[in-house]
Amino acid sequence: MERLKKGAKELRINLTSLQLEQFEQYYWLLIDWNQRINLTSITDYEEVQVKHFLDSLSIGPIIDFSRGLDIIDIGTGAGFPGIPLKIAFPDIQLTLLEATVKKAGFLEKVINELALKNVEILAGRAETAAHDEKYREKFDIALSRAVAGLPALAEIMLPFCRVGGECIVQKKGDIEEEVAWAEKAITLMGGKLVGVKAMKLKGLDDKRWLVIIDKVKPTPDTYPRRPGMPEKRPIIS
Ligand code: SAH
Repeated sequence: MERLKKGAKELRINLTSLQLEQFEQYYWLLIDWNQRINLTSITDYEEVQVKHFLDSLSIGPIIDFSRGLDIIDIGTGAGFPGIPLKIAFPDIQLTLLEATVKKAGFLEKVINELALKNVEILAGRAETAAHDEKYREKFDIALSRAVAGLPALAEIMLPFCRVGGECIVQKKGDIEEEVAWAEKAITLMGGKLVGVKAMKLKGLDDKRWLVIIDKVKPTPDTYPRRPGMPEKRPIIS
């Protein structure tokens, strides 16, 4: 995990040998389970360190983790970005939301093997969980990486954030248009777009972005709409 260690240091995250060992364990579980369920197309040892682990940690510098935050990762898949952040910042309270039951099974395995505390795994759709009062407007931060278009994400992420909290969306490629289209959905859900921050990962030339949306008002009860609707009929400007 040398590549990860170096890259993390550049993000001002110093990983201990215990944490590096947890990443190593996570890598081998990913490879093992990937033979049975479709978790990732990236399997090379070096590539996983950069494209999954470091990319997840790239959120690190823009959050103040000393505050003991309650975080939800929506559509976490094999655990990105939530699990790398939990390994690096063990004090966070983490909820991993994933629609595919088999993937949720993998997440359980990782949490148990790595002995990570204060992690809840929720197998289900965001559109449903967001109407459960246990989760609605309860989180300081909602995260999501590679899940849907920004208008749909605004609808499924913002309901989870408390007023005063924020959403951070990880995106790749040309996103200018997508951001403009999302403005209506963001406002309707009680959000305010505060910035789009360019991210660069060492050794990778592609464009990566963090879209930051503050929750400034409660989300109307009618949102999100029923499962599938935010993506099928996105609210666009
Ligand atoms: N965030 C991970 C996975 C991306 S793939 C990563 O960056 O690698 C998108 C994942 O989101 C899939 O596992 C899919 O099952 C899940 N997903 C998509 N829409 C969802 C929804 N509405 N609610 C919960 N999970 C969802």
